Amino acid sequence: MKYTCSICGKEHEELPAIAWSSPASYSELAEDEKSKYGVISDDYCVITYPDQTDRFIRAVLYQRVIDNCQTLDYGVWVSLSEKSFEDYKNRYDTIDNRDARYFGYLNTVPPPYEFHDGIKTDVVVSNGTNRPEIIPHQIDQMDIPLVRDYYNGINTEEALRRIAEIAD
Ligand SMILES: [Zn+2]
Repeated sequence: MKYTCSICGKEHEELPAIAWSSPASYSELAEDEKSKYGVISDDYCVITYPDQTDRFIRAVLYQRVIDNCQTLDYGVWVSLSEKSFEDYKNRYDTIDNRDARYFGYLNTVPPPYEFHDGIKTDVVVSNGTNRPEIIPHQIDQMDIPLVRDYYNGINTEEALRRIAEIAD
């Protein structure tokens, strides 16, 4: 879809967002385990194993595209501690009391990256109705390709290749 850009005033083709309907920890479960351990909605996922409980929320990671006015938006999941998860849930239904910042681990890894379950992030929740924004930590993580690209940017050709790959 074309739209008139508020940054440069030209017409652009809109980059579609790429989103996942569940965290990797959930999608990797067998079907019977999903129903036995998992509870999932559009914004939350809780997996209650016999010995531990993992909590996830849906968020957005904005990948900068260096030769473009738009970002490539990834609808990803991130795991939160119980305390952060409860705090997020308690504020979720408000619009003006949502400002918060949590620590979380990325639980979705867009291709072509390999899954790396220890990617540390800040989960930034702002007032309003937008989903939280994921900001990968830079310190000690610049050797992880996803984190490097996040900070250095990718080009439009690469963004379009990723969109085409997911659409296949
Ligand atoms: Zn533009």
